[in-house]
Amino acid sequence: MQLSPETTPQTLQQSYFDGDGEMAALTRSYDWSNTVLGPPEHWSQSLLTTVSIMLKSRFPMFLWWGTELIQFYNDAYRPSLGNEGKHPKALGQYGEECWPEIWPVIKPLIDQVLSGGASTWSEDQLIPIYRNNRLEDVYWTFSYSKVNDGPGKPGGVLVICSETTEKVNTLHKMEKTVTELAESESRLRYMLADAPVAIALFSGKELLIEAANKKILEVWGKTEEVIGKPLHLAIPELKEQPFLQILNEVFTTGKPFYGNEVKAFLEQNHKLEEVYSNFVYQPLKNADGETTGIVLVANIITEQVVTRKKVEQAEEMLRLSIEAANVGTWYMDVNTRDFIASSRMKELYGYYPHEEVSYDAVINQIPEEYRNKVRLAVEQAIASGESYSIEHPVTGYHDQTQRWVRALGKLYPKTAGHTAHFSGLTLDITEQKRDEMRKNDFIGMVSHELKTPLTSLNGYLQLLIARTKKTEDTFISTSLEKAHVQVKKMSTMINGFLNISRLESGKIHLDMEVFDLDQLIMEIIEETKPTLQHQTLTLSPCIPVSIYADREKIGSVISNLLSNAIKYSPKGKKIEVSAQVSEGIVEVSVKDEGMGIKPQAIEKLFERFYRVETKHTQNISGFGIGLYLCAEILLHHGGKIWVESEIGVGSTFYFSLPLAP
Ligand code: ADP
Repeated sequence: MQLSPETTPQTLQQSYFDGDGEMAALTRSYDWSNTVLGPPEHWSQSLLTTVSIMLKSRFPMFLWWGTELIQFYNDAYRPSLGNEGKHPKALGQYGEECWPEIWPVIKPLIDQVLSGGASTWSEDQLIPIYRNNRLEDVYWTFSYSKVNDGPGKPGGVLVICSETTEKVNTLHKMEKTVTELAESESRLRYMLADAPVAIALFSGKELLIEAANKKILEVWGKTEEVIGKPLHLAIPELKEQPFLQILNEVFTTGKPFYGNEVKAFLEQNHKLEEVYSNFVYQPLKNADGETTGIVLVANIITEQVVTRKKVEQAEEMLRLSIEAANVGTWYMDVNTRDFIASSRMKELYGYYPHEEVSYDAVINQIPEEYRNKVRLAVEQAIASGESYSIEHPVTGYHDQTQRWVRALGKLYPKTAGHTAHFSGLTLDITEQKRDEMRKNDFIGMVSHELKTPLTSLNGYLQLLIARTKKTEDTFISTSLEKAHVQVKKMSTMINGFLNISRLESGKIHLDMEVFDLDQLIMEIIEETKPTLQHQTLTLSPCIPVSIYADREKIGSVISNLLSNAIKYSPKGKKIEVSAQVSEGIVEVSVKDEGMGIKPQAIEKLFERFYRVETKHTQNISGFGIGLYLCAEILLHHGGKIWVESEIGVGSTFYFSLPLAP
């Protein structure tokens, strides 16, 4: 090219390196005259051409020129130098000064290319460079090629490169993902192996066992040896069961099969065992939608099913026994008061079995004098959560028949599946009640009949005693005294029976009067003294106490307690009676030093016909009605009776009564 004299170096450079990129501008403005290359007008054609091609290319390029390896690069290469690093210093810089960190790696390549070796090709090479204020891991794919400066004369090395950091990083990320996937798959396998559900995988129509986890092997009663075998050979007992057939269908239709609480017989420890499970046979399909295998996932529920069957059996037995006992049952939701009664229950209340009955309808069939008592007992049982038991008559709704029933019930508090409800049983005790009444009537009749001759016998005896007192015959007089004591015992007993029968039939009658209780106690003590065996009977000093009661019946209570104290303290010494007054109540106690009563017996002591059975009491005569009568008499007077006792030490019986107003 011919240069005109007026051309300035600036315009000259402009014409060499035209273009408006940053690097073209920088290359133009660079003061090359200070470098070994001198100003561009001194550059060889080859250098000018290479630099100008490079500056125009959109491909990242870099050039080392001359022995000093002076550097050029283009806009496309520039980002690889980062923001605060080598750019723009690198332009015109010596290679060695610019790249100290990688010089040992690249210098040999540069030399190799300059000395006529083949161009290099490096793919995704990690060449960490200093940029963006730090040493960064940068990947490159690049080629070094020689640029001649005239025929056969090496001028420099052109680097055409591209940064592949992003590509490599993406690749690394993918690799990492794949490894993670593989890891998670192995974790999944591990999890399935230990899963509490039984899992197996069958492949092909012949159902080869491809995989089976611990649980299913356990259920099959097999080891891992079955893996790889066809199912029907691995578990021969399946042949007589429907499963192989179902699996075959799943395979041909490609539709899953769900089994719910299905029973299978499987050989475990050389025994056929019943196994219950919920399971699914899920077909596995290939890309073409063809079934290639089947996955079995089963939840083994043998234990639950067996337990439930046992409960069902127990319930069935209970139901049968309730039916057999002819017991009516009922149920009431405590909140809604919804009432359900069994047919038998309805029958007992005189309703038809198919009829709807309400709680009130049932309650209304109870005679008025019992109705409130029953209602209250149920409400109390609901409130307290305790059971109740009550005997009461019922008048049938349709049939107007009189029946006696025993009603028992209990509150069942709220549980997971049920609301709080009340459940009751009703037994027909009409016959039993009739028997009792007949017995009572009989006892009453007999006692009544015995009373008259006994009264006259007593009269004659008293007459005879009075007469013999005048004679000297002590034998006759003591014999008569003894006979008199026995006759009195007998009349006490007969009075007891009479009272019982009257009590039971509700015919007890109280002859109320105001009298001195202390006086009565004294009289009874005097009357009892002749029957003492070896004990002493004393009355502690007490103030006069006046009460309003049936004198004869309260007398029988005291005499009963005294005769028991004597009867049940064969070795005891002292019997002590005392009476104390406080807060409008008199409390009488009879204390003995006898055999005592065991705690379990105490609560039953006041029940009819109850007697404590021990070797000490078996030879002591009695009917077990004395204390029952005492309790009933006191109840009718608004009083109470109770006992404190210790085995081998003695007993103290107490009763209390309100004072006369
Ligand atoms: P009975 O004396 O006719 O058996 P009771 O009703 O008077 O009937 O008494 C019930 C039971 O209570 C008796 O069988 C006896 O075992 C027990 N018992 C009553 N009084 C005493 C007492 N003072 N000491 C020990 N046991 C007694």
